[in-house]
Amino acid sequence: MSESSGLSGLIIGVANKRSIAWAIAKSMAEAGARLAVTYQGERLEENVRDLTAELSDALVLPLDVTSDEQLAAVAARCDEAFGGLDFVVHGAAFAPREELSRPFVETSREGFRLALDISAYSLISVTRVTKPLLEKRGGGSILTLTHLGSDRVFPNYNVMGVAKAALESTVRYLASELGPQNIRVNAISAGPIRTLAASGIGGFSTMLQAHRDRAPLRRNTETSEVGDAARFLLTAAGRGVTGEVLMVDGGYSVMGL
Ligand code: NAD
Repeated sequence: MSESSGLSGLIIGVANKRSIAWAIAKSMAEAGARLAVTYQGERLEENVRDLTAELSDALVLPLDVTSDEQLAAVAARCDEAFGGLDFVVHGAAFAPREELSRPFVETSREGFRLALDISAYSLISVTRVTKPLLEKRGGGSILTLTHLGSDRVFPNYNVMGVAKAALESTVRYLASELGPQNIRVNAISAGPIRTLAASGIGGFSTMLQAHRDRAPLRRNTETSEVGDAARFLLTAAGRGVTGEVLMVDGGYSVMGL
């Protein structure tokens, strides 16, 4: 029996087969977990339903993380179907496209608000609604996805870097508060990967090339590598780890030049 057999999890952030959250979903499903996978809006519903058809028994639910009603409904459906949750993957992020190409100093108040709301605040609200479900299982593991742009400057990453800094800080505050309930909260900081979200970042190809040139492993990060690292953090293998930002970036972040 695998270490994740019998686990149930909620996966937020699947848009298509290139989504990092989808690689995590596949990794956890291969390990025997039952999943609820959410989609943001009708536009993405068909994609997500087609993908999840290859999983046995997945729940597919609508969720826009800016809607408290939808968040509550997702938690209620997971509770009904699984009688609690063992893990939650938060892979939602958004910034208006224009904020990721114009000078950072031109960041609009509304663009800043939206980016921080969807990409950072939502980890708090998702945690709040799923906490009772995790407690039903005696604890669990929450995982979000971040990028080194939280800490260092990447051209055009702009307000998303600020949102990732807030997200990583949120991970630490939540980890501290929920540790006594045996709920762990961590992030994976992935190297650049060509996904739908990444297509909004101006000059993304340059970022990919710099990564291939400078990362100790001399190649780009693959979503399956993030999926496998996520499996560690989401299962008993990672039971001693909380409040952590795990780098899955081929070593890029250790380099000075
Ligand atoms: P993606 O476009 O496949 O996933 C982003 C997801 O966020 C989509 O599923 C989208 O529907 C969802 N989303 C956006 N607004 C939402 C809302 N209001 N409510 C619910 N969901 C919403 O791209 P991805 O690269 O797989 O992104 C997943 C996570 O990984 C993001 O947090 C991203 O910042 C992070 N990340 C990406 C990279 C990269 O290079 N691609 C690197 C490090 C971290």
